[in-house]
Amino acid sequence: MAGSEHDYYELLGVRRDASESEIKKAFRSVARELHPDVSEEPDAEERFKEAVEAYEVLSKPETREVYDRFGRAGLRSGGFQPTGVDFGSLSDLFSAFFGDDLFAPPTARRQRGADVAAQVEIDLAEAASGAKRDVTLSVEIVCRRCEGSMMEPGSSSTRCQTCAGEGVVQQISRSFFGQVVRRHVCPSCGGSGTIIEHPCETCSGSGRESVERELEVEIPAGIHDRQPIRISGEGHAGVLGGQAGDVYVLVRVRRDERFAREGDDLVSMIELTMTQAALGDRLTVPTLEGEAEIDVEPGTQPGAVLTLRGKGMPRLDGFGRGDLRLLVNVLIPRRLDEEQRRVLEQFQASADAAAYDRDEGFFKRLRARLK
Ligand SMILES: [Zn+2]
Ligand SMILES: [Zn+2]
Repeated sequence: MAGSEHDYYELLGVRRDASESEIKKAFRSVARELHPDVSEEPDAEERFKEAVEAYEVLSKPETREVYDRFGRAGLRSGGFQPTGVDFGSLSDLFSAFFGDDLFAPPTARRQRGADVAAQVEIDLAEAASGAKRDVTLSVEIVCRRCEGSMMEPGSSSTRCQTCAGEGVVQQISRSFFGQVVRRHVCPSCGGSGTIIEHPCETCSGSGRESVERELEVEIPAGIHDRQPIRISGEGHAGVLGGQAGDVYVLVRVRRDERFAREGDDLVSMIELTMTQAALGDRLTVPTLEGEAEIDVEPGTQPGAVLTLRGKGMPRLDGFGRGDLRLLVNVLIPRRLDEEQRRVLEQFQASADAAAYDRDEGFFKRLRARLK
């Protein structure tokens, strides 16, 4: 092994408490700097091997701990042998540490298809009952004419001469300390290993085509505005046999003139005449699903809330429904004829403080609503 006894942390330029990812990052940058294709330093090979050894020790928790506590002597006592020096070629060395991604160009890979977004609009009653909508999407699929082969049916392809069907070419260069092998995606065939004589006319040789797809979207009862629905596997086709993407349908719930939504509850306003509020009444009020009856107690105050249990929205992830809350507004007559005025004056003369029995409730409610 290399004769130097440099500190591993110093070799990589990291602190002793560096995290695994910091160590990996540091090694990458040292390796890039010392890579024989890049570096002109005469001691690049030696330093490179040292860096590899340092990385090999510090990247594994067990060897790192031994090194931290007992130094290189500790490592040797356990029979540690750096593997770096055994590699014949540097590109193999890189592959061993990082896979092919450090210097090799990207190669074609199996990929999941992209997701597709769509939007539907429903009204509040549909959000309460659940609904179905057809959405039309433009989706990329595997070309049906060539079934993804990219060739005109009946035509043939030949093995790429440049790469002998491998899809990659090797470039061998000689540096001052040996042979360096680098792999590139084949420029003639783009990595496929074959040369197509007649590209598919439908997809122009891309292997993919765009189609309109109609999907029926099931919107569950109780859905909220801006809630997405995922339809799995209906998005764009994957690449090289990868899974198709998903479709995300964003549901917009139109504003309702009568009801505001608050979680699973609905809130609405109810108007009582002065006398209805004072005398009490039975009223018919609108709900999302037709009309309902409600009893107004005598002495109902402005700002009171009448609750119709279970007349709100269905709960999306559970049983039951929210409530319908009706805020009471009391209408005071603006115009009185003579007879009405006389009756009210008579009422005023007879009504004492007890008739109004002013409780603090109204002011509390008012204050709460003004906050
Ligand atoms: Zn095609
Ligand atoms: Zn090729």
